[in-house]
Amino acid sequence: MSLTGFERVSQQRRQSLKRAADEGHRIIGCVYPSFPIELFLAHNLLPTLLWANPSVPSASEASLQTFCCGFARNLFSQRAKNLLTPLSAIFFPGNRCDSLQNLCDVWRFRFPDDKVLRLNYPSTKESEATTKYLAEELQSMSRTVEESFGLPFSQKEFSRAVGLTAQFRASSQFISAARLLQPQILTYAEYAELICRFLTLPNSESLNQIENKASAIRQILEKNKQVINTEALSYTLLHQEIGEVTISPDTSNPRIAVIGGMVDPEGFATMFNNAASETSPKAEIVLDLLSFGLRTTFTKPPRLQGNPFEEIALSLLGHSTEPTQEGLPERLGLLKKSLTMFAIDGLIICEQSFCDPDGFEAPEVISAAAEERVPTVRLNLDAELSDRARLESKIQSFLETLTMR
Ligand code: SF4
Repeated sequence: MSLTGFERVSQQRRQSLKRAADEGHRIIGCVYPSFPIELFLAHNLLPTLLWANPSVPSASEASLQTFCCGFARNLFSQRAKNLLTPLSAIFFPGNRCDSLQNLCDVWRFRFPDDKVLRLNYPSTKESEATTKYLAEELQSMSRTVEESFGLPFSQKEFSRAVGLTAQFRASSQFISAARLLQPQILTYAEYAELICRFLTLPNSESLNQIENKASAIRQILEKNKQVINTEALSYTLLHQEIGEVTISPDTSNPRIAVIGGMVDPEGFATMFNNAASETSPKAEIVLDLLSFGLRTTFTKPPRLQGNPFEEIALSLLGHSTEPTQEGLPERLGLLKKSLTMFAIDGLIICEQSFCDPDGFEAPEVISAAAEERVPTVRLNLDAELSDRARLESKIQSFLETLTMR
């Protein structure tokens, strides 16, 4: 049976993870995009972001509550069918959404031999109190990891991990900014692949791939004298000062932004490409505001000075907030500025099936875009993107409407 683009992507991720397991790495599966990468690496564990598997139907699972989303069901089904790469532990966030809370509780009950870690995140934004709270939670989790695996926190490995994530973020931020200025410099699908590859296996190999791409792009931009502009744009995105910069597109191709929660950027890119290939001029995604996309890259890395737990806490709290967190007015403010300043022609709003955070946020996002006169389309997707034909038709109709405008 031939695989679709998304199934191929998913299979490649599982194969690379299996190779890492065969090489003797102890792998910790992370069920949340803002996971403490540096902490796990400092304990000599290899963290991997867990993705939905499109070949595993998110069956109705009696153990999970009826409100559980499709993404949580897919992960649970993967585990119940023994299709997950063997993990040394699994990491859940606490205080994020009901589905993840339920999934973690049921996982502990159904798979009592699995080592389950849960980190309670503060619900409010960065402040002295939230940093202190999260730092204490991280330190407590670090003690649990040491007791469970006999792997103490290593300052040397922590330094290495900070170098790894700092270089990854510098490269991914530069590429994101370059694509906003000149989307034709790298397709969204290639960009998404680089990000997802690092989040699946954060190691020197995945880092090299993104660094090589960033340096190739830098060389092109140097010839066009665009490096300073790109770096300035990257800085404004990192510091969320979007009002400071304006973009003048150099092509008439529709510029698309995509927003939503835990939607697989590579999976979405395969669907978008199929839809966009039928339209002319060809639309391109220039801005990705998915929880698994830009929000994982635009944060400051921990510093090596000071208390490592506080530094990791500060880095995690520095991520742009997402639908599972408080801060909707700020998110909408940033979205409105981004739509205008980055010359966005259309906004695709993704909602994961039965995801309450996405469902609550989508109407507000539509209103915010309408205020900026940016057309929107709302896509309800399941974790497996099983309804691809209908979704691609919907995206294609939307792109055709934009082209006519
Ligand atoms: S998709 Fe939505 S409901 Fe499901 S785990 Fe993510 S945030 Fe929670």
